[in-house]
Amino acid sequence: MREKAWKRVIRALEREKMLDNTQLILKKTRETLKERSAVEEIKEGKMSAKFKNIDQMKELALDCRRCRLYKTRDNVVVGEGPENAKVVFIGEAPGADEDLQGKPFIGRSGKKLRALLQEVGIKETEIYITNIIKCRPPNNRNPQSDEIKACEPYLHFQLDTIAPKVICTLGTFASQWVLGTKERIGLLRGKVIEKDGMKIIATYHPSFILRNPGMTPNLKNDLEMVKKAINNE
Ligand code: SF4
Repeated sequence: MREKAWKRVIRALEREKMLDNTQLILKKTRETLKERSAVEEIKEGKMSAKFKNIDQMKELALDCRRCRLYKTRDNVVVGEGPENAKVVFIGEAPGADEDLQGKPFIGRSGKKLRALLQEVGIKETEIYITNIIKCRPPNNRNPQSDEIKACEPYLHFQLDTIAPKVICTLGTFASQWVLGTKERIGLLRGKVIEKDGMKIIATYHPSFILRNPGMTPNLKNDLEMVKKAINNE
């Protein structure tokens, strides 16, 4: 081929590559703008944006100001565990240790729960653990209904993404939220409730068990029920 013809081919190829690059740059810019707007929305207290996955949700939630609890928290404690967990444990809210370290269920209650899980043979690799609200209420007071409402989208996304076989709710607030009821935990626990294709098992919060050690066998029985539900027994 003559030199001029080669130059034409090279120019055409360069043009195509440039087009490809431009398209790539545009795609990246669009993604960045989308992410930025999600961050801004969360900061402003809105949240119409969809998350890509739990890791991205976790990152965005670190800046969350959707309710008053952002003013007093040290860390946002989103949750921990594999995305293909068979069971999701839902507690009430992070405590002092969790708030300091940014991890769920690492204080005294968490240790109690983890010890009982080990006793009944539920492995840490099988569980995802989180709370109804992701920031610690001052002095561990009860979460308020507007705080639960503001924080709901995170939990909805976690449950939709993980789609666990079993949900185990720990304590009144989580049990009432998941089951959509105002019943007392004493009446909700001790049974398997089928809802939206999942098995829900409500039980006592481990902090209640620490205050009432005589109730430990009840929590253990409920965890054994969780174990059976995971194994379809
Ligand atoms: S509790 Fe939930 S909604 Fe409120 S600031 Fe923390 S992450 Fe946001």
